[in-house]
Amino acid sequence: MRTTVGIIGAGPAGLLLARLLHNAGIDSVVLESRDRAYVEQRQRAGILEQGTVDVLRSAGAGERMDREGLRHDGIELRYDRRRHRIDFPGLTGGRSVTVYAQTEVVKDLVALQLREGGPLLFETEALAVEGADTDRPRVRFTRRGGRDGEAGRESVLECQYVVGCDGFWGVSRAAVPAAVSRVFERTYPFGWLGILADVPPSHDELVYARSERGFALLSMRSPAVSRLYLQVPAGTDAAAWSDGAVWDELERRLETAPDDDWVLNRGPVTAKSVTPMRSYVHEPMRYGRLFLAGDAAHIVPPTGAKGLNLAVGDVVTFARAFVHFRETGDPALLDAYSGTCLRRVWQAERFSYAMTTMLHRSPDATPFDDRIQRARLDRIATSRAAEQDLAECYTGFSFD
Ligand SMILES: Cc1cc2nc3c(=O)[nH]c(=O)nc-3n(C[C@H](O)[C@H](O)[C@H](O)COP(=O)(O)OP(=O)(O)OC[C@H]3O[C@@H](n4cnc5c(N)ncnc54)[C@H](O)[C@@H]3O)c2cc1C
Repeated sequence: MRTTVGIIGAGPAGLLLARLLHNAGIDSVVLESRDRAYVEQRQRAGILEQGTVDVLRSAGAGERMDREGLRHDGIELRYDRRRHRIDFPGLTGGRSVTVYAQTEVVKDLVALQLREGGPLLFETEALAVEGADTDRPRVRFTRRGGRDGEAGRESVLECQYVVGCDGFWGVSRAAVPAAVSRVFERTYPFGWLGILADVPPSHDELVYARSERGFALLSMRSPAVSRLYLQVPAGTDAAAWSDGAVWDELERRLETAPDDDWVLNRGPVTAKSVTPMRSYVHEPMRYGRLFLAGDAAHIVPPTGAKGLNLAVGDVVTFARAFVHFRETGDPALLDAYSGTCLRRVWQAERFSYAMTTMLHRSPDATPFDDRIQRARLDRIATSRAAEQDLAECYTGFSFD
């Protein structure tokens, strides 16, 4: 099998890249190890930056998002029983974010790809990228599904370029030699216990709460479905938390002033899982004809809602550079790919780290750390400049 751009992974990065290349008349093949149902149901991100919304729309993948996505013009910070709203459009010259689940973005892109795009092979696992430093890189892969006789057989996808969009646990990063790779990493001693619940959200915008008991986040997937998170110690088993215990703890951490009539809506919990927290960057994001995009190259803790949006930024940068190269023969933008993406990635790392350390309670936190967290929140609540910085970062970094 042969193609111009071999894409490993059908998460948001791989699917959007295939779409952008298709729109520019460039062929690609997408290899995805899981089946379609799994990929379409994996619960993850939910906040789309303005730039991500604009890209999906202009790629022809925004129709349902425009109908069903919820535009959010702000978030609330809650601490010491106080509530402080950040007004995004007022602070950023009109920018906002959109709540539209990653599952829905993926469903829209899969449907488009299967209807109009090149091959998207589910249950097809990339085993290795070979010859990344040659002008004929290859992806060795094996199919679990497929037509009779194909299952289990090892094959090769011959490419002109390979883009590794296979997430943190994929194989493409391993094709960059150790002597070239540099990894920057931080793990946190806590994770997020997340629930999905069939109940209308208790607030019409996201609420980020810092409390003595740890962080809590009130979020949503739709007007009828709430998504809520609790900071828990790293390694926590989600099954150890009963539904009632999760709701009780959310209520404590989201506490408001006694004269405030805000209430937490409780409802049936339909999913519960724990996500570890990590900051991670692999440099460079390019080796020869292999380009890394999305979680394959970097991870942010979810507090800044940046992971999916960074993945989109990477593939937009690659597609723009590749189209420019094809049209002009000038490789300058492709050569600049890693540096261009990493500048944005490190801004997102910085913001996600700042939000995480401001809002979570570390197990070894001292009274001094407590006071500093409150002072950081107070600064945002009382300084337009500090508020504006948060609003600019939250609504997104430029894809240019
Ligand atoms: C609980 C949670 C909440 C989050 N909230 C947000 C948020 O609000 N906003 C935000 O922007 N981000 C958020 N994120 C992060 C976001 O979900 C990820 O950054 C995003 O999924 C990255 O997309 P990707 O396409 O790079 O990788 P992935 O979505 O991980 O996709 C990689 C794909 O590659 C496939 N694959 C892996 N190995 C192979 C192989 N060997 N061969 C073939 N295929 C392979 C995988 O099956 C997968 O489909 C959250 C993440 C979690 C876990």
